[in-house]
Order: sequence, then structure tokens, then C-alpha cells
Amino acid sequence: MDDSRRTFIKQVVGFTAGCATGNDLRDIAYAAGSSKALAETDKSEWYQRPMRWAQLAFVEDDPGNYDLSFWLDYFRRIHADAACLSAGGVVAFYPTEIPLHYRSRWLGKMDTFGDIVGGCRKLGMNVIARTDAHACHQDVRDAHPDWIAVDEYGNKRRHPSDSQYWITCALGPYNLTFMTSVHQEIMQKYMVDGIFTNRWSGSGMCYCEHCTESFHEFSGLDLPRTDDPQNPARRQYIVWNQTRLFDLWRLWNEKIKEINPKASYIANAGGGSLSPLDMKTIGELAPTLFADRQGRSGLMAPWANGKNAKEYRATMGQKAIGGIFSVGIEDKYRWKDSVQSANEIHLWVADGMAQGLRPWFTKFNAKLIDRRWLPVVEEIYNWHHANESYLRNERSLARVGLVYSQQTAAFYGGRRAQALVEDPALGFYQALIEARIPFDMVHDRLLDHDQISQFRTLIFPNIAALSTAQCQQIRAFVERGGSVVATYETSLYDEWGVRREDFGLASLFGASFSGTVQGPMLNSYLSIEKNPVSGTYHPLVAGLEDATRIINATNQVATTPQSRNAYTPLQIIPSYPDLPMEAVFPPQIKEHNPGVFVRESGKSRVVYFPGDVDRTFWEVLDVDHAKLLQNAVLWATNEPAPAKVEGQGLLDISVWVQKSSMTVHLVNLTNPMMMKGPIREIIPIANQRVRIRIPDGQRVKGARLLVSGRPTMCRAEADEILIDIPSIGVHEVVAVDFSA
Ligand SMILES: [Zn+2]
Repeated sequence: MDDSRRTFIKQVVGFTAGCATGNDLRDIAYAAGSSKALAETDKSEWYQRPMRWAQLAFVEDDPGNYDLSFWLDYFRRIHADAACLSAGGVVAFYPTEIPLHYRSRWLGKMDTFGDIVGGCRKLGMNVIARTDAHACHQDVRDAHPDWIAVDEYGNKRRHPSDSQYWITCALGPYNLTFMTSVHQEIMQKYMVDGIFTNRWSGSGMCYCEHCTESFHEFSGLDLPRTDDPQNPARRQYIVWNQTRLFDLWRLWNEKIKEINPKASYIANAGGGSLSPLDMKTIGELAPTLFADRQGRSGLMAPWANGKNAKEYRATMGQKAIGGIFSVGIEDKYRWKDSVQSANEIHLWVADGMAQGLRPWFTKFNAKLIDRRWLPVVEEIYNWHHANESYLRNERSLARVGLVYSQQTAAFYGGRRAQALVEDPALGFYQALIEARIPFDMVHDRLLDHDQISQFRTLIFPNIAALSTAQCQQIRAFVERGGSVVATYETSLYDEWGVRREDFGLASLFGASFSGTVQGPMLNSYLSIEKNPVSGTYHPLVAGLEDATRIINATNQVATTPQSRNAYTPLQIIPSYPDLPMEAVFPPQIKEHNPGVFVRESGKSRVVYFPGDVDRTFWEVLDVDHAKLLQNAVLWATNEPAPAKVEGQGLLDISVWVQKSSMTVHLVNLTNPMMMKGPIREIIPIANQRVRIRIPDGQRVKGARLLVSGRPTMCRAEADEILIDIPSIGVHEVVAVDFSA
């Protein structure tokens, strides 16, 4: 290509480091020990180095029965540069000297863990030890009955899957004392780079003597027997549980660092709005993190892996995140020895990589039963290795941020958090994917200027529980020229899930809460309205002009406009009978009842939907709702996207900058098994035209397609380059090289 002489001048918004403050939610749960800021990484540490992880989760009879040299050869062939290997906890795979630390009955005089650690080190790999803390054997229960978790009826809990094991209490002496000494012993013997614990944070509520006493000391209350977050004891429990778990995390980290200052404790933790441990604190504590979403099950779109990546990145910044994927079928029936469809593995991993995860395969049982997954992982990893410099992302160029809120899920959603909090986010996520809009996710406790300056538009999918300080941060974002799209009960509750008199963001929405929430509503609509002054339709309803009316959401907040005369592009047609058919016609509309509030002030634009359009979209998947959500984001954002892709099919798109290049990932989700895997075959999509905006001051040296390897037809237009891609299988990456 012939672009090297051109200089393009564009503004790139920097991703600056900083630590968020300003949340009214008391920081008792989140008193951070370390406060390493987002995006700051120490180059002398090992955590950023590994790009491809290999995990062998041993089963008890692996020692002496598995082929060590096969695995070391495989790790070498696939260019794995780090390994996570089972060491101890439930079962020790090394000659432990700690009383009650159960050794594998197959271990004999061997050191299975030590042997494979040595082999991996010879390959130049980083090695972390895996422990599992959730279960123990009968002798532990006999010696220390108080180490066992207790159910609400006072019974010690046997393991539901295997009755020879007992479930341990996460916050009693089993973890605090026994597992601490296990971690110290592993570190002393092997000086590994870190310790990663599976199932360390408890298996549901525990009513043991230690938990009862600790909780009483913390709150003056008895442990709750309800999951209602408005119950005072339950609310305190949510805070206490996190406080103690983060204490445990810090304890293990401290004890490990006393022995090996270059190592860390890395918990298996994290996730989206429904995950229990505060992601902001995790982002501060963890030098690196591993997103444990091994595959999809039930009705789940393949973009769920990318969503997981974005949720982790929201608080981890540019710290390395491993994306743990299983080669087996992930299902409630838990076929741990199964092997998944090759195409399904490929698509799942590709979507994670596109959104910034470093691949990490996990294999339970080191004895190979079904070998079909081996070439699949080999192909993915070899491609990854060959293109590594284009996968060491420095920042994402997404200009749209989808906010998620654990406090909304915990204190407002409670037992209905999936429906009230996660489903609206899933609806918006799907709508943004369909609209081919590149976007990131944003944690609601990181809304200060430095964290969100990258974004032009923030989306609040029913982020109901927001503190006064968070509302102020959102208003400040808009005052700086940012745009907001919000739905339903956003800001109607405080950070503890207590309903306010009015929206915390009423002035931003131009709407006040008028006292009721309606739904679920049958047969309600939104009429499409022209602006009476200009006689034109608003861009929010572009493509819907001929509809006259479209279906409404199924739940809505009753609102009063702050300005009586404001034009609204959508009017609510209230629910009317759906039977008998003779009665199915709407009543005369007497009241001005906006179905959406749109406001412009300077550069910023605000769209507020009183209805749960996003949640309804996830339930019904109506095309008009997709259009409405898409139009809202496009109108609010009001600038060309960093990358725009024209063509047919469903694509997940991300845009990244590396040291001296940028990339646009295109993951082809077009498949009959998109909403429920596993996929059978890849259906390639044809003729995609990619427009990429070139960042400020960069000179383009050339562009390539990293998957097909095809030379690209590339031409420059103003501040963009255009690339036509004839066909995309699972994944394509457009890589644009910059001249120095
Ligand atoms: Zn307990």
C-alpha cells in the first residue's frame, strides 16, 4: 500500500492512570491495602510477560500414570509461556510435610508437581501453583470439626458431589491457618511465581461458630437467614463477607511475598455485575487476573467471553488477564472429561482474544482420553504466537462504555438481580453487537474523570443504585461534553438500594419520578412523533418513520417531564385490552407521556428511556427495539466510530493500539448456533468493508490481515483507511503498522 507518505492528524484520548474515589458506599468493605492504579504496570514484574497459558488440573491418580514428557513437548510446540499446575489443598501432589495435608494415594515417593515445575522452567515458562481450598477429607473433620462449613440448620456440610469429602469454611481456621501454611510450604519448596486458589471464597453461607462470632463482632447482629438485601443483617453480611475475604487475600499475598517478593497470591475471582467480590478492589489487589469462564452453556451468545474480558478490563486496566477456557463441554451435568466441538472452542477463544484476553487452556486429568482438542489449541496458540506483537494491546479505542454495577445487583437486584440488572445489560450488549459498535465496559465505582475520559458515551442499562457522589460524577461527565444513554430505574435508588424521592439524575434526564413503576404491561406501544416545530423526525426514530407506532417495553417508570413543552420523539400509548379482539384498540391519548427524553447541551447529548427497552429486547429480541437502542447510542455519540464495518452478518468488533501498530478484530458470530452452542461449522461472511480512523499524528506504513494472510487492498480517504475483506471465517484481524 502507498500510504506511507501521508500523515493523519487525529486526536486520541489518552488512558491515564488514576484511582477512583467519590463513592458514598462506605469503603469498609473495600479498604484497599495496595492502591496500584489502573493501567499502571511495573515492567520489572513478570505478570505482563506470559501471553499463552497452559493449565493441567491433576486428578488424584495422575501421579505415575500420566506422560510428563508428552505435556512438556506439547507446551513447547504450542509456545505456551506460562503454566498453572495443581500443587495442593484438597490433594497434595508433592511430598508435603504439613499434618492433615492429604497426599495423593498415587504419589508414593514421587514429586509430581515438582517434576512438571522443573520441566516448565527449562522451557522458560512462568509457573504458578494451583491450590483448591473448598473441600477436605474425614481426618480433617475429625481433628478440627470447627473447620467445616455449617448449613442454616446447624449441620456440618458434606460435599454434595462426593460424600467422602467435607465442605470447608472459607473464613475460619481452615483457610486462615491451614491453607496459609500450605501456601507457605509450596512457596518455600518451589519458589513459584504465584499461587492461584480455586474455590477459596466459600460455598454459600456458612453458620459455623467462627462465622457467627466474626459477623457478630463486625455488625452486632446474628447471621442473616434471608437473602433480602434490605434486611439489615443481610446488607451487613454482604459487606462483612467481602471484607473478610479481601483480608484473607491480603494475608495470603503477604505470607507469599515474605518468601518470594516477586510472587503474588492471585485469587480465582472476578466477573460482572452478579459477581460477589467488588471488582474495583480486585483491580487494585491483583497484579494479573484470570477470567474463569470456561465455555458457554444453555442459552448464551459467544460474545459472553468478550463481555467477560471487558468486565475484567474495566477495573484491571492494561494489566494482563488470562482467559481460562475449557476444552470440554461446560454444562450443568459437568462432563469434565469431555471434549468440545473444535469450532466452538475456536469461536469462544477468538472472542475472548479480540476483547483482550490472553488464552489459557485448562485440562482436567493429565491422562489423555480424547485427543481431539490438541490440534485445535495448537492452531490457536501458534497463530497467537506468530502475531504476538499485534496482541500486546496498549489501549482500546472504544468510545462507548457500557456501565455495570455490582452494588445495583447486590442491594437493588437481590434475588432478582439476573432479571433486573443483568438482563438489561445483556440486551444492550446484543444491540451494540448487532449495530457493530465497538464498546468497552465500565465499572460504576470507577466513574472519575481519569477513568472515563476515553469515552464519548456512557450507557446505563438500568443502573438503579447510584450514590449521590456517583450521580455527581455522571453529571460532571456530561458537563465536560460526554453523552449518556440510560434506561428505566437508573439512579432511582441510592447505593444501598433504598429508593429515592426522585431520580438522582432527574436534572440530566429532564424527567422526574412520579411515584409508580408499571409492569409487566401487555399490549403497550410507543407512537412515533414528528417535531411539531420543524416537522421532521428525530434521528432516534430513524428507520421507524413509517411505523406510526412500535411496541413499548414491558416495564416502565411513571415520569413527569421537567419541561412541559419539550418535544419527545416517542409517546407512550398505555396498555389496552388484548382480548376480546373487538376491544383491541387504543383509547384516546389525553396526557403528554414521553416514551423517551432527549436533551442536547453543547456537545453532550442525553437519552433517557423510562421503559426497560434493553431488558425487553433481551427477552423478545424485537428488531424495532434493536434499532431504537442503536439509534440512541449513535445519536448520543455523534462522531464517526473508530472503526466501521459495512457488510452482512453479525460481528464483534474491537479496536486496539499497540506499540507501533493498531488492530481491528472482527469476530464472525454469524451462525445458526449463535444463541445456543455448540456451533457445528463456521459460516464465513463475505465482502466486509472496514473503515479505520487513524489516530493522531500516526503515519500508516502498511496494513495486513493476520488470519487469512492475504495482502489487503487498502486505500486512504481523508483521515481513514478503507480495507475490503473478501471473506471472514471465525476471526480476522486488520493490523495497521505505523512508521516510527
Ligand atoms: Zn464458617
